Amino acid sequence: MEVIQKAARMRAVTAGLRAEGKSIGFVPTMGHLHEGHLSLVRHSLERSDETVVSVFVNPAQFGEGEDFEEYPRDILRDTDLLVKEGVQHIFYPTPEEMYPPGFRTYVEPEEISRVLEGAVRPGHFRGVCTVVLKLLNIVRPHLAVFGWKDAQQAAVIEQMVRDLDVPVEVLRAPTVREADGLAMSSRNTFLEPEDRKAAAVIYKALRAGRDLYVDGERDAAEIRRKVQDLLEAEERVREVDYVATVDPHTFQDVLKIKEGPVVLATALRIGKTRLIDNVVLEAGKD
Ligand code: AMP
Repeated sequence: MEVIQKAARMRAVTAGLRAEGKSIGFVPTMGHLHEGHLSLVRHSLERSDETVVSVFVNPAQFGEGEDFEEYPRDILRDTDLLVKEGVQHIFYPTPEEMYPPGFRTYVEPEEISRVLEGAVRPGHFRGVCTVVLKLLNIVRPHLAVFGWKDAQQAAVIEQMVRDLDVPVEVLRAPTVREADGLAMSSRNTFLEPEDRKAAAVIYKALRAGRDLYVDGERDAAEIRRKVQDLLEAEERVREVDYVATVDPHTFQDVLKIKEGPVVLATALRIGKTRLIDNVVLEAGKD
């Protein structure tokens, strides 16, 4: 296993693998790894001869006043976890390596990046697309794995890959949760103990919305209202940025649900921490 810091070295390693006819899987992360990340890694290891995991807290996707500086970092622990999984290559570039002086070009996604997360965090998906395209160009994987946890991010990347003819297969892997249902996230470490307990309400509320759907409710407004009410009933929930029912690919609003699938998504603040989560409403699934 090699921890690679230079793009040129990373490119040479995967070029060598390609020349040997090996398939390459890739999992981009911001590090501080948990079981959610590791499940993506396992998907990649299963489907590819060799797996590259990148660990890079990307300054371009954080807005002013967001938690770029505070974002948890621990490359030694991450390396340890990835070695145990059997990952062959870690790409761990510095911000200067990814954005050298004179860097001027950004990828600007259209409609899909202006709603929900994009509306609350202007420029976020521009930063995400730019870094992911750079990483894909450096690593040149056959497969790239993203989490359903960040469903809008996965949709934005799938759109970019289609629009810009990026030769990679994108796979979305299911959300991994704590025992009480809270979606695993590096940001969960910011939660005070009482807030951590209260955060279980997020999945509970989304599940209640999904239960309505399973029981036959097709009016999306009713489902959203149920979720919103349950979230607001938890006094530690500060602000609910949105509760939305959207198409999983375009992220445009869905008002009347037919067969699905429809993403029921929310973003909110508990204490000082902003958390996002979603479930999928789909006929025949509960
Ligand atoms: P991050 O390090 O937060 O940028 O996440 C890196 C990748 O891991 C993204 O594709 C996320 O969607 C995915 N991911 C984060 N949390 C989870 C989770 N709880 N379950 C599955 N995938 C996750």
